[in-house]
Amino acid sequence: MKFGGTSVGSADRVRTVADLVRARRARQVVVVVSALGGITDLLIRGARLALARDAGWEGVAYEVLSRHHSTIAALVEGRSQDPLLAHLDGLVTELRSLYTGVYNLEELTLRTIDAIAGIGERASCEILAAALEAGGTPAAAVDARRVVVTDESFGRAQPLMEETGVRVRERLLPILDQGAVPVVTGFIGATRTGVATTLGRGGSDFTASILGALLPAEEIQIWTDVDGMMTVDPRVVPGARVIPEVSAAEAAELAYFGAKVLHPATIKPAVERGIPVFILNTLNPSAPGTRIAAGAGDDTPEPRAIAFKKGITVILISQPRMLMAYGFLARVFEVFDRHRTPVDLIATSEVSVSLTVDDPENIPAVQADLAGLGEVQVLRRMAIVSVVGRGFLRRAGLAARVFQSLREVNVVMISFGASDVNVSLVVAEDEAEKAVRLLHREFFEDGRG
Ligand code: ASP
Ligand code: MG
Repeated sequence: MKFGGTSVGSADRVRTVADLVRARRARQVVVVVSALGGITDLLIRGARLALARDAGWEGVAYEVLSRHHSTIAALVEGRSQDPLLAHLDGLVTELRSLYTGVYNLEELTLRTIDAIAGIGERASCEILAAALEAGGTPAAAVDARRVVVTDESFGRAQPLMEETGVRVRERLLPILDQGAVPVVTGFIGATRTGVATTLGRGGSDFTASILGALLPAEEIQIWTDVDGMMTVDPRVVPGARVIPEVSAAEAAELAYFGAKVLHPATIKPAVERGIPVFILNTLNPSAPGTRIAAGAGDDTPEPRAIAFKKGITVILISQPRMLMAYGFLARVFEVFDRHRTPVDLIATSEVSVSLTVDDPENIPAVQADLAGLGEVQVLRRMAIVSVVGRGFLRRAGLAARVFQSLREVNVVMISFGASDVNVSLVVAEDEAEKAVRLLHREFFEDGRG
C-alpha cells in the first residue's frame, strides 16, 4: 500500500491511513509513504534560496520543523512524542547543515538536492509508523536507503533490482514474519556505497512498484486523492468517469499525457512480473478504483480516455531539397540529440517535418542549429490532445469520429499509427479544453463509448 503526500497531508489524514492499513492486516501489508504534502517542494525551495545566498532558507528549515511538529503533536500523546521529536530534530539539524553547505559553497549539485529532498520521506515514515503503533498495529519504520539500491544517476536514479531484492529479503521479510507492518520511505534509495539518491519527482509510486515486484506482492495499491484513472480530467469535463481497468500500455500513455495519477515508469517493474496495480482513493476507500495490469480488461478496440498536455512547442522545418534526398531526418534529429531535447510527436511530408517538444529550455539553441537545415517555424503555446485506448489500428471509422467531432477546432498536427493505443493531435493551447470536451462527448457521453 503506497500513500502519497495528500494522503498524509495532516494528522487526520495520517489517522485515516493508519485505519486503512489496520483494516487490511489480515493480509501481510508493506506500506510505502511519500513526504507530507508540499514538503518535497519546500525542501527544494530552501536549497535554491541557500544557493542564491538568500537567508530565506532558514525560514524554510523552520517551516519543515513546524509542519512535522504539529502533525506529531496532533497524532501521538505525551511521552510517546519524544522519540519522534528527537528524530525530527536530528533531521532538521541535518537539513540546516546541508543548506549551510550550499550557502557557503554557492553550489547545488543533483547529488546534494537528493540528500535534501529525501528528508521529507524520512520524517513522514517515522510519523506514520508511530501512528500505526499508537492504534495498536505493530509497525517498523524502514529507511529505503537501506533497501533500494540504485545507480548513481542523481535526481533520477534507477534501481538495481538484484541487489535490492537481496535487501528486501534481508530487511523487509523478517518484519513481516514478526507480524509487523514495514513502513518504508518512498522516493529515496542509495548507491552501492551508501550515497543517498532519489528516483525522481513522484518517485514513491516507483518505490512501491519496485518493492511490490521484488517481495513479490499479490497486488500493489497506490492510494491517492482521486477515485482512479479517469476518462478525462474532471476539472475540465464534469462528466468524467473512472476507468475500471486499463492495460499497462494505456496507463503509460495516460500517465505521460497529464493524467497526473501515476509516475509513467511506476508500473513497469510490477507489470513485467504480472503484478496488478490498483489506483485507490484514501478519501473514498470503498470506491473500486482502477486496475492496471498487463493485458487488463477486454480487448474491444475502443477509446479509454482523453488526455491532454499544454505548454507544447511545435517546430516545423521545411526543405524543398529534401524531396527524394536521404539523411535529412537524421540531421534534424542529430540537432535535438545534441541539445538533449526530447521530441514527442512527429509528422513528416515529402519536404517538411513537424515535431513537438515539451521542454522549452533549449528551443532557441535548437532553432538556431536547425536554421542551417531549412526554413524553421516555431509555434508556441500549443497543446497535445490524445485519445488513448486500444486496438486503434483495427478500428474502422475511429479517425473519422475524431475529426468529425473536432470540425470546429483548428488541428495543427496529427499522429496516428505510431501505436495501437494512441491518436494524438496538436491544437492551440487555448483551444485544448474545447477539443477535450468535444472528444469526450463523442466517445464517452450520450450513452455512446
Ligand atoms: N515526495 C516526492 C515528491 O514530491 C515523491 C512522491 O511524492 O512520490 O516528488
Ligand atoms: Mg505522487
